[in-house]
Amino acid sequence: MTSSMDQVLQARLDQRQIDNLYRRRHLLQSAQNSIVQVDGKTCVAFCSNDYLGLASHPAVIDSMRRGVETYGVGSGASHLVYGHSQEHHALEEELAALTGRPRALLFSTGYMANLGAIRALVDKGDHVYQDRLNHASLLDGGLASNASCQRYRHADVGDLTRRLGKAEHGRKLVVTDGVFSMDGDLAPLPALARACAEQGGWLMVDDAHGFGVLGKNGGGLTEHYGLDVTDVPVLMGTLGKAFGTFGAFVAGSDALIETLIQYARTYIYTTALPPSVAAATRISLKILRRETWRREKLLSLIERFRTGIDELGLELLNSPTPIQPVMLHDDALCYRVGEGLRARGFLVGAIRSPTIPVGSARLRITLCAEHTDDQVDALVEAIGKTVAEVGKIHSE
Ligand SMILES: *Cc1c(COP(=O)(O)O)cnc(C)c1O
Repeated sequence: MTSSMDQVLQARLDQRQIDNLYRRRHLLQSAQNSIVQVDGKTCVAFCSNDYLGLASHPAVIDSMRRGVETYGVGSGASHLVYGHSQEHHALEEELAALTGRPRALLFSTGYMANLGAIRALVDKGDHVYQDRLNHASLLDGGLASNASCQRYRHADVGDLTRRLGKAEHGRKLVVTDGVFSMDGDLAPLPALARACAEQGGWLMVDDAHGFGVLGKNGGGLTEHYGLDVTDVPVLMGTLGKAFGTFGAFVAGSDALIETLIQYARTYIYTTALPPSVAAATRISLKILRRETWRREKLLSLIERFRTGIDELGLELLNSPTPIQPVMLHDDALCYRVGEGLRARGFLVGAIRSPTIPVGSARLRITLCAEHTDDQVDALVEAIGKTVAEVGKIHSE
C-alpha cells in the first residue's frame, strides 16, 4: 500500500522533533524594535537584524507613508515592463554613491540577488568557489548555476588559492559573505582580492551584515578595508537589515549591471519592490550616513556585552560586529537556554544544525544602536543564570 502524502511528510516531521531540530514561529504583535510584544509577552529583543534601529524610525516611516500616497501600494509590474519607478532609480544612484561603485541594481530580496547574480555570471564549464560558512542563498545560487561548485575552508585564502590554481578553463567566481551571518567575523577581503587578482578570479562579496554597520559612512566592509570596484567587482548588500526596510542590491561596473539586467532571471521575472519601500530606504540611507553616533553606540554595546560574557566564563567567537554568538555547542542545551531566556523576557536566536555545523550550537545575540547599557547588562545576567540552571538539569 502506498502511504498518503501526509503520512510520508509526518514521519519526517516526527523525526525532526526527536532530533530537537523542529522550528516554530512566534507571533510578533508589535513593531520590530528593541522592546517587542511576542506571544502576548513584552520582551527585550536581541535577535533582529535592524542593527541601527531604523525599521521603526519616524522619518523612515513618514517617507514610506508619503511614497504610498504618491505611488500607490504595489509597483504593479517588473522593472523591465514599466515597473521601474523614479524612486527605484534614485535609490540605485544613491547606493552606487554610498558604495563607491559606478552603478547599483535593486533586487526584491537578498536571496534573489544572490541567486540571480551567480547564475548570470557563470555557466557550464565555469567554477564557483564558496567559503564553507557562506549564507544559504549563495550556496543555492552556486547550485542553481550550471558551474562546478566547491567550498574552501572558512576564511582560508591559502586553501582557496590552491583550488583556483587547479582550474584550467572557464570563469572563476569566488563568493564570500562579508560579515559571516552566524559567526559575526569578517572575511579577509584584502587577501581574497589579492588572490583573485593573481589567479584571474572574480570576487563577489555578500555584505548583508556589513552595510550600514561598518565603514565611516556605513558603506560596509569594502569601505572598512578601502577596496574599490577593481578589488571587489561584485558587491551585494541587503536593505532589510541595517537599512531597516526591505530589498537588496548589487553594485559594480556598468558592464556588470547591464549583464544582470539582461540575464539575471530573479531580476527579470519578478515584480519590482513597492516604490514606497525605495522611498523609505532613501531616507534610511541618509540617516545612516549622517548619524555616525549609531555606529559608535553599537561599538560600545559590543564591547560591553563581550566583557560581560567573558566575565561569566562563556565562550565567544572573534566577532567585532553586532552579531555576537555565545557558543553552547549542544543543540538541545541551546534550545532550552533560548526558551529559558524567553521566559525571562529576552529574545535571542538559538541557532542549531543544520543552519550551522553539528556541535557548534550557539545563542546568536544581535545588538542594536537602540539598546541601552542597562538592557545589555540585564541580558548578560540572564544568560549567566539561565545557562547555569539549564546546564545543571541538562547534565543530570
Ligand atoms: C539575510 C541574508 C541574505 C538574504 O537577504 P534577504 O533580503 O533577507 O533575502 C543574504 N545573504 C546574507 C549573508 C544574509 O544574511
